[in-house]
Amino acid sequence: MHILTVDVEEWYHLLGVEYLNDEDIQDRRMESNLDRLLKVLEEHGARATFFVLGSVAEEYPDMVRKLAERYEVGSHGYRHRLLGDMGLKDFEKDVMHSMEVLERICGKRPIRYRAPGFSFPDEDYLRVLFDCGVETDCSLAAINHPYGRKMLKGDGPCLIEQGGRYIREMPPTTISLLGRRAGFLGGGYFRLFPYMLTRRWTEQNRDYSMTYIHPRDVDAGQPRIKGLPPLRRLRSYVGLKGAERKLRRYVGDFDFVDVATAEGMIDWDRVPVVRL
Ligand SMILES: [Zn+2]
Repeated sequence: MHILTVDVEEWYHLLGVEYLNDEDIQDRRMESNLDRLLKVLEEHGARATFFVLGSVAEEYPDMVRKLAERYEVGSHGYRHRLLGDMGLKDFEKDVMHSMEVLERICGKRPIRYRAPGFSFPDEDYLRVLFDCGVETDCSLAAINHPYGRKMLKGDGPCLIEQGGRYIREMPPTTISLLGRRAGFLGGGYFRLFPYMLTRRWTEQNRDYSMTYIHPRDVDAGQPRIKGLPPLRRLRSYVGLKGAERKLRRYVGDFDFVDVATAEGMIDWDRVPVVRL
């Protein structure tokens, strides 16, 4: 199975406020970027789960309501603050606030969550999800990466157990580079690598793959912020020009499903259990 997920946030949300000025933030590209991405998906009837920021839903309620009529909507938190920048209490408030906003706008409380930047610092933050009513998380990884640390041994789905309660974990797929696991199947990596490699990595993971993409990944005209450190600049802007075309090929070559559909295809009695 191949799962497609979309993190619905503005073009600047992962850049960090320290690099942005007020003028940058005034440049809203959310609606046109999401429209462009949806058009590509709809050309091929691709399904996807959209992890929406609470603050985006508040700013564009009609856009998110319409999205929820056609696709599954989960929470991407409220403000896109990395988890390591928040204490546990603030993290809980951020998740709960996003759930309340999305429930008010979509008429249904989300049960699936993805952390901004996949940024889980440790198990304590994971415990918070149980209290927020999250049933499925799509944030943990089998590698250390720029914002979060390695918390899983494998790349496949598993159960996280705490005191007899369970959260289904559906992790983003990592890729194999020179014999090592490094990076994800999505976002900047999707833009960076030639399409043939992305296709091969996806084919290699035919039992389970999860890719993620952002509306900004198909926005070749987005502003280029000056002063970004080289690695961040690369991650933000590499491959933007050809990304829409690449995505079109990708959703044409694979039958993508959303997280809810994939969950129904997994035998949860046979997956590993991670105990907190
Ligand atoms: Zn994000």
